[in-house]
Amino acid sequence: MKIKKNDTVVVIAGKAKGKRGKVLKLFPEKSRAIVEGVQFIKRHTKPRKQGQKAGILEKEAPVSVSNLMVVCAKCNKGVRVGARVLTDGKRSRICKSCGEMLDKA
Ligand SMILES: [Zn+2]
Repeated sequence: MKIKKNDTVVVIAGKAKGKRGKVLKLFPEKSRAIVEGVQFIKRHTKPRKQGQKAGILEKEAPVSVSNLMVVCAKCNKGVRVGARVLTDGKRSRICKSCGEMLDKA
C-alpha cells in the first residue's frame, strides 16, 4: 500500500476528482480508504427515538485507493511515490518528483 493513514491525498478520478483530504481509515483488503471530506453517502433516516430528527445523514464513503494520490507538501500536488532504504535499514516513501521524504519520523 502506498497510502497510509493520516496522509494527505488528492482524488484523481471519479466524482470527487480534485478534492483533497486526510486519510482517516484504510481498508487494505478492499484497496479502499476513507478520506476526510471526500465522497459522502447519504442515508435517509427516520426518527426512531423521541427527539431524533428525520432527515439525511451524510457519511463518508470509502474511495478506491487507485483513485488517490499522495500529496507532497513540497510540490503541493499529487505525486508518484517511490521508496528509499534509509541508512538504518528502514524504508521511507519519497516523492518521485522532488525526492522529498513522505514519512516523517
Ligand atoms: Zn515533491
